[in-house]
Amino acid sequence: MEWSIRALAQKIKKHELSPTELVKLQFDQIEKKEPDYHCYISLQKEQALVRAKQIEQELLEGKYAESLLAGIPFAVKDNLCTKGIRTTCGSKILEQFQPIYDATAVERLQAVGAILIGKTNMDEFAMGSTTENSYFGATKNPHNIAYTPGGSSGGSAAAVAAKETVFALGTDTGGSIRQPAAFCGVTGIKPTYGTVSRYGLIAYASSFDQIGLIARTAEDCAIVLETIAGADKKDATCRKQKQLHYTENLGKPLTGIRIGIIKDYFDMGLQTEVGESIFSAAKKLQEQGAIIDEIHLPHLSYAVPTYYVLACAEASSNLSRYDGVKYGYRSENGKDLHAMYEATRTEGFGEEVKRRILLGTFVLSTGYYDDYYCQAQKIRTMLKQSCEQVLKKVDVLLAPVAPTTALPFGMNLSNPVERYQADVCTVLANLTGLPAMSVPCGVDKNGLPIGMQLIGKAWEEKTLFQVAHAYENKNGL
Ligand code: GLN
Repeated sequence: MEWSIRALAQKIKKHELSPTELVKLQFDQIEKKEPDYHCYISLQKEQALVRAKQIEQELLEGKYAESLLAGIPFAVKDNLCTKGIRTTCGSKILEQFQPIYDATAVERLQAVGAILIGKTNMDEFAMGSTTENSYFGATKNPHNIAYTPGGSSGGSAAAVAAKETVFALGTDTGGSIRQPAAFCGVTGIKPTYGTVSRYGLIAYASSFDQIGLIARTAEDCAIVLETIAGADKKDATCRKQKQLHYTENLGKPLTGIRIGIIKDYFDMGLQTEVGESIFSAAKKLQEQGAIIDEIHLPHLSYAVPTYYVLACAEASSNLSRYDGVKYGYRSENGKDLHAMYEATRTEGFGEEVKRRILLGTFVLSTGYYDDYYCQAQKIRTMLKQSCEQVLKKVDVLLAPVAPTTALPFGMNLSNPVERYQADVCTVLANLTGLPAMSVPCGVDKNGLPIGMQLIGKAWEEKTLFQVAHAYENKNGL
């Protein structure tokens, strides 16, 4: 059976497949695969079946006539609030947290009849790039279970790759949608900062965090983004735009589209097959009518340190709310209020989260603020300006998603700086707010997927979808 949103929607509209049958099929697959991959932190089978019945009735009454998502199962990363459903953020500190409201993105999907089937695994507070930092245990890569699925939205990417969902919401602060999508051989989009309301997203680094999604194709991504994007009075940083038609350019030829390969990334010690796959993808895009240029971006080597200084600074402030008083885990081991705070945070947070709170507090402290935090803000501005400059000459930038394919479990665990360095290709889009996509473009000698990254002009997601869709169509996806 074809699992694209359009194909499934057609079957549902023609009564060849009911939402209940689809949800049952989906859970059959989950029950088969989940013991091997562990994509989910929690599953909502009962509720999904009840909702499927309701939607069937509503479809008969003529509701959802315009929706391609009515009856389609979807998963949500566990840092997005879901009303009455445990939302853990991959952390012990939120192990029992049940939000009393839905994130706007989740609410919008439910309003058009999509069916929530479960919450996906992730690195604790979205800090990490392998999903090994989850309090609930790691997710495995469906292409080879000896490897990680990437992260932090590793559960979402693996669930899509294993057909344990049709699509999954994810979040991307420094690459957490694109990198796991690349490592699991599926498609992911981080839209322009401000496209999707962050209301109901548990904050990591607010000026970087953006909600997006992972699906099997560019078209599926475009369809879902049309539903979740757009102004929301509950998030003042969300663009007050009319809904954009992200599917508008699908199927249009690539003739005349200018694509600039960011040459600098290729001198940074990429795995050979990664570099080769990106260049061969560029060649294929050229054969389809695109004009390929090579471009140089100054200051790229500062991107990773800049990202980690700023993201940790914001995280240290955002995570100060977890104190054992307001909500979440509370330790029994404190004799007075301050000891209780300390014990709660010591026991409730994992090692990586603590490391980042410490780093963030340090760079914001008196005496270091100017040297680290302010310098990093200046470099962020410089990177933004240089991207704006090159995007006057080209429509889309092409880059790797990561320097290597998926990492095996346990690699560099004791060397965080080495791990941080692997975010070199993705953090640029978060520092600049630009939209970026990951599209499968090959495999390495072990059969592990490789992704190419397309970075676009602000608010020009539809060009990214156009390029990705044309590439996928031509290359047998
Ligand atoms: N790997 C990056 C980090 O650890 C990205 C995280 C993210 O995008 N949430 O910060």
